[in-house]
Amino acid sequence: MSLAHQSVTALRGLLVKGEIKPSEILDDLFVEISARESEIGAFLSLDRDAIRQAADAADLSLPLGGVPIAMKDNINVKGAPCTCGSRFLAENYRSPYDAGVTRRMREAGVVFFGRTNMDEFAMGSATENSALQKTQNPAAPGHIPGGSSGGSAAAVAANFAPAALGSDTGGSIRQPASHCGIVGMKPSYGRVSRYGLVAFASSLDQIGPMTRSVEDAALLLQHIAGHDTLDSTSLPVAVDDYLSGLKQGVKGLRIGMPKEYFAEGLDPAVRAATEAAIRQLEAQGATVHEISLPHTEYAVATYYIVAPAEASSNLSRFDGVRYGHRSSSATDVLSLYQKSREEGFGPEVKRRIILGTYVLSSGYYDAYYNKAQKVRTLIRRDFEQAFAQVDAIVSPVAPTPARKIGECTNLLGDYLADVCTIPANLAGLPAISVPLASAGLPIGLQIITPHLKEALMLRIAHAVEIGA
Ligand code: GLN
Repeated sequence: MSLAHQSVTALRGLLVKGEIKPSEILDDLFVEISARESEIGAFLSLDRDAIRQAADAADLSLPLGGVPIAMKDNINVKGAPCTCGSRFLAENYRSPYDAGVTRRMREAGVVFFGRTNMDEFAMGSATENSALQKTQNPAAPGHIPGGSSGGSAAAVAANFAPAALGSDTGGSIRQPASHCGIVGMKPSYGRVSRYGLVAFASSLDQIGPMTRSVEDAALLLQHIAGHDTLDSTSLPVAVDDYLSGLKQGVKGLRIGMPKEYFAEGLDPAVRAATEAAIRQLEAQGATVHEISLPHTEYAVATYYIVAPAEASSNLSRFDGVRYGHRSSSATDVLSLYQKSREEGFGPEVKRRIILGTYVLSSGYYDAYYNKAQKVRTLIRRDFEQAFAQVDAIVSPVAPTPARKIGECTNLLGDYLADVCTIPANLAGLPAISVPLASAGLPIGLQIITPHLKEALMLRIAHAVEIGA
């Protein structure tokens, strides 16, 4: 079997035993990439010579030594491009430093492998908002890979890389994982450092692994989790062992099915696959309970106030002075800001900045931003109450499988499709997408657990994976 089809865990096993060299993994990955990347478009950059050099120098005694991992193009890797899928940063920006996750993975021996396409500044759910290129779903040609981490999902699904990192603000790891048939997890807020992740909405953003198995997700989380003094929102608490309990099964666990997530409008194939997976968990000894998360219907509206508000503030640093694009037709400092932003940002980013500035402006702040924060608290309390009754919550990841590329006729429709993933971000909870058995397009199951209970979430995900 080609090494390109192997999991991180399997590759490490072979490397440790001395049966393969890192360069042989690269040979097989490059074969896949040469065959299909022109059609898939997963990578924004891939410096084969630099990757080969890093692989040859890899220290195989380190826990992830010699393993190639692709990075979403909004996570800084020193010396590499970091375009965020935007024209703003595409021309001349190079990362001057490593992100917190990058440093940890470097210390674990990872070979950084290519920068993956994404919706501009992670705003989108189809990767169609990338200003730089289109990405196809490897599991469903002609369909979107999902987004915003669509390039990372496509790279893993197409066997271009054994694993990738993505970022998830409202579903951007889980939804593309679901659409491409891979595993994608968003850790709890504060579990993984965001230092060096280009900020979209700081109270929601998390970095997480995108892999071909739950075991690989647990392995990568083990290495990227933990306190980072350079990210004041990262929690100074011990990191659990995510691998040792992975195969313990689900016997006796109480699983909640929120009725609001199984409402009308759910695609029949998604409903069927999700319900079959839940029956599988029951067959393995879990008990299933209908629960209610009554404020779910306000989640999308809340998110589309909070996230743009934070984005409008975070993206104010892109003004043509310090980072990336600088307009050549500016005549004074104000026109430098205006023209650089006008030329550098794409339409969705501008829309969000305008929306965010509006909800933060005096006179509207209380009516929109403050109100949204209050509703966010209600959504968090819904989960607290649910977790008094059940150990974990399961639901669809997206209401439909991947739509066709170019088929979005209604922007609101795309926003509403985040209804199942956004609540976990608003509440800061860990959530994962695990691929399900499906005859047609890929479909994932979402599992949500209480804050910092990633080990439990991964254990349930593993039971779903072996039952699928
Ligand atoms: N689709 C959502 C948005 O467009 C979520 C994106 C994300 O998680 N980065 O904002």
